[in-house]
Amino acid sequence: MKIIVIGAGLAGLTVAISLAQTGHDVIVLESAAEITYIGAGIQVSSNSSKILRSLGIDKHIRKYCTEPVDLRMMRWKGGEVLVECPLKKPALEEYGSPYWHIHRADFHRGLVARAAELGITIHLDSRVVKVEPDVPALTTKNGQQLTTDLIVASDGLHSTCREIVLGYKSPPVPTGQMVYRVTLPAKKLQGIPELEELITIPRNNHWIGPHGTILSYLLEGVNETLVNFVFTCDVNMEDGVNQKIGTNEDVREAFKNWDPRIDKMLSLVDKVLEWRLFTNDEIPTWTHPSSKMVLIGDAAHAMTPYLAQGAAMGIEDGAILGGILAQADYCTTKTLPQALKMYEKLRIKRTAMVAEASVSSRWFTQMEDGQKQRERDEWLLAHPGIWKGHINIRSRKEFLDELFGYDADKALNEELAAQRKERDAVTDKAEKRLVRLCSIL
Ligand SMILES: Cc1cc2nc3c(=O)[nH]c(=O)nc-3n(C[C@H](O)[C@H](O)[C@H](O)COP(=O)(O)OP(=O)(O)OC[C@H]3O[C@@H](n4cnc5c(N)ncnc54)[C@H](O)[C@@H]3O)c2cc1C
Repeated sequence: MKIIVIGAGLAGLTVAISLAQTGHDVIVLESAAEITYIGAGIQVSSNSSKILRSLGIDKHIRKYCTEPVDLRMMRWKGGEVLVECPLKKPALEEYGSPYWHIHRADFHRGLVARAAELGITIHLDSRVVKVEPDVPALTTKNGQQLTTDLIVASDGLHSTCREIVLGYKSPPVPTGQMVYRVTLPAKKLQGIPELEELITIPRNNHWIGPHGTILSYLLEGVNETLVNFVFTCDVNMEDGVNQKIGTNEDVREAFKNWDPRIDKMLSLVDKVLEWRLFTNDEIPTWTHPSSKMVLIGDAAHAMTPYLAQGAAMGIEDGAILGGILAQADYCTTKTLPQALKMYEKLRIKRTAMVAEASVSSRWFTQMEDGQKQRERDEWLLAHPGIWKGHINIRSRKEFLDELFGYDADKALNEELAAQRKERDAVTDKAEKRLVRLCSIL
């Protein structure tokens, strides 16, 4: 089939690769005039690294990945460790694929390199301004008109395609929170005794406090090792502004009573990126009634970042959609209605479950100090590591099995087998009815 993907973000490029790998003719339209890279890190858990490996993307990014040993949750004020949940070992031994930290720029570049290997054309400076999903066809801002067999809309959080698919507006909803993002060379912390510890072992350091958290982890940059910090707090930005460059003074003010190591680190920083956080309401369908246009990634299910799973879900979407459209029974324009129904069946429930877990993680980690917080901390101190029934979702065995243990290929094969069984049962029943009818006659 001829497939057009709108948007060259992490989800758009992954689905393009997944579709092209099975022989579809894919082009990507991207509104940005060049692929620029936002300076921040991203966590890639086993459920998504497994897919990146099976799509041949890992060879382009592997050398830029660090593998955190664990997730270490700490008290906001003094940095006392409350709980350490292993990440590296279970990722490799139980979930069969590594847990990575990588700079978004390197991740994106790796996806572009893999797309180029597969002959995918990415048209930059090609904002889609008109979509005719019944044809399906679209027009870019340059007046270029394109017809295709399927439109995969991966136009992100502020998607305009979402409204076209749904037939009503469903804008992203502000969460009331924002993040400050800071990335600096790790060597800047070297030789400072209280900060050096943050850069010696690759781990996921997570300070948890009232109405906010701080996350830090190491990144293997192109030229040097970097350390990435994400400060989450209640919104402290002017109305109407969603992203801007800030200064270290804003962050120092917002986090002034936190672990003193933070202020020390911030004194070494000059550039800060401010980012308002949004989420999407869950929607009942991701497919246009024509079955010729479908949503993917943040356009379908932007979620809060408290579990670091937004892109991972878009990557899973890409693997599943590509996997379905690779099947002989589902790879033509005639079978698109059934194919997209299966895609929704496999994706909507899972992404909603993860989005909900992400919100509950916000409330768990951002409690006000008081009785409930003291009880939480006592419990965490008494239950290090990963346990069944753990009160912390990031340490809860059964949840981690479901989240990180997800295998897109396996999930798809199980669904295909179930559908085949259902079809066989219907055929069997019809045949038996025919035999009975013949014997009566
Ligand atoms: C603070 C923060 C931390 C996060 N950390 C993590 C993490 O650690 N792990 C994780 O898995 N996820 C994380 N996420 C979520 C993750 O960043 C997103 O889910 C992911 O980047 C979304 O990818 P996407 O491709 O769906 O959308 P986008 O990256 O937004 O891409 C959409 C693309 O479409 C293009 N576009 C838009 N409109 C048009 C148009 N009309 N025509 C053509 N092109 C168009 C845009 O220019 C853009 O390139 C985090 C999010 C935040 C806010």
